[in-house]
Amino acid sequence: MLGATGHRIDVVVIGGGYAGVMTANRLTQRSDVSVTLVNPRDRFVERIRLHQLVGGSDDAVMPFNELLAGEVKLVVDTATAIDPARRRVTLEKGEPLSYDYLVYAAGSSSASLQVPGAAEFALPISTLEEAERVRGVLAGTPKDSPVVVVGSGPLGIETAAELAELGRRVTLVCGRILSPYSHPSARRTIRRRLEALHVVLLEGDAATAAAVTPDAVELADGRTVTSAVTIWTAGFAAAGLARHSGLTTDAEGRLVTDETLTSVDDDRIVATGDAASPSHVPLRMSCQAALPLGSHAADTVLNRISGEEPAGFDRGIGAMCVSLGRDYGIFQFARFDDTAIRLHVPGRLGALLKEEACKSPISQIKTEARKPGAHRWLVKDTRRAERVRAALAAEGNTVLSR
Ligand SMILES: Cc1cc2nc3c(=O)[nH]c(=O)nc-3n(C[C@H](O)[C@H](O)[C@H](O)COP(=O)(O)OP(=O)(O)OC[C@H]3O[C@@H](n4cnc5c(N)ncnc54)[C@H](O)[C@@H]3O)c2cc1C
Repeated sequence: MLGATGHRIDVVVIGGGYAGVMTANRLTQRSDVSVTLVNPRDRFVERIRLHQLVGGSDDAVMPFNELLAGEVKLVVDTATAIDPARRRVTLEKGEPLSYDYLVYAAGSSSASLQVPGAAEFALPISTLEEAERVRGVLAGTPKDSPVVVVGSGPLGIETAAELAELGRRVTLVCGRILSPYSHPSARRTIRRRLEALHVVLLEGDAATAAAVTPDAVELADGRTVTSAVTIWTAGFAAAGLARHSGLTTDAEGRLVTDETLTSVDDDRIVATGDAASPSHVPLRMSCQAALPLGSHAADTVLNRISGEEPAGFDRGIGAMCVSLGRDYGIFQFARFDDTAIRLHVPGRLGALLKEEACKSPISQIKTEARKPGAHRWLVKDTRRAERVRAALAAEGNTVLSR
């Protein structure tokens, strides 16, 4: 249907994760906007449950028809290049897609495994296919064989706990410090819980993986930890598409944008979720940030279509949840700029809060499909503008130029 502008406006969204689906649904507020979502799979992946897929307590996927507004056209394909000059996206299998506006929501996956032997012998779990592979490998490995998890951010901790609860013999190679994000008080709770699950914690400057072999992980101080299955959780990087397409990206491959989430190269391209680096001051790659970033990206596109000045992004993240097995969790409160504070809720209640935090994105996305424009994110980061100014000043800029 054509709307007030008298012609159809084509918006292509690359990536059907939390951010991309939120954006796509919100864009359907206008009847003259045609929304096409490109995603490599015909199912939505609940990435925040991939460690549960590995442990067998959830399949971590949902049908898109339960999440997408009826007006959104899903194209199951992979975008291979963005051509800003011709406003075209090339696809792996199908015909290229032309766009008036492009939303780049291609998310993230494991950072490239630079440690010698890691790419060959360690298994990442940051995508559906990687998690399914780890599950298969574990299924074929005797239960008493040693499993080593490298990385002690939330993903490493959750994976180690999930497997230890199933009776696996798990060693967690933490690096310098266990759970660097957490407040020391929550960190103590996490340590106690992992120890209760008999997870061996290797922590300190020397406890970084220096090499991976088929049956061991070698640490920086020369120690060797025997491993039948090595799971790699250290670090995320954004998808490579923006960089390969010649757009300006940051060191992690995120598309660099201004505060409206508009690419610094082209005001027809807007980035969101893990794939966005607003003002070089990106939010932590997280599902929590993906939702407000998703709705903000849609608002920026809709503002531009209607000739209004888009607003700057000013939302924040006020917490982080970590599961430590199925019945124990930590709900870590944080300042709105995402620094952890002492207050945290551990134990069974922490697990219940974590489960609610996993269900909430899905229900927010479903609501936006039914009532586009309904999404509100109440956590406001009042100090973001200050941090952005400081970061730009440090680079010798006052504004991000386009
Ligand atoms: C096991 C695990 C647990 C986690 N737990 C938490 C948690 O508790 N809390 C939290 O806040 N965060 C958590 N995270 C992080 C969170 O999952 C991500 O930050 C979040 O998924 C980012 O959402 P997104 O929409 O930006 O990207 P994604 O969810 O990664 O979605 C991006 C989509 O784009 C697709 N795509 C990529 N390239 C292309 C292309 N070229 N063409 C078309 N499509 C493409 C991808 O296949 C994917 O479907 C966890 C992550 C993992 C792996």
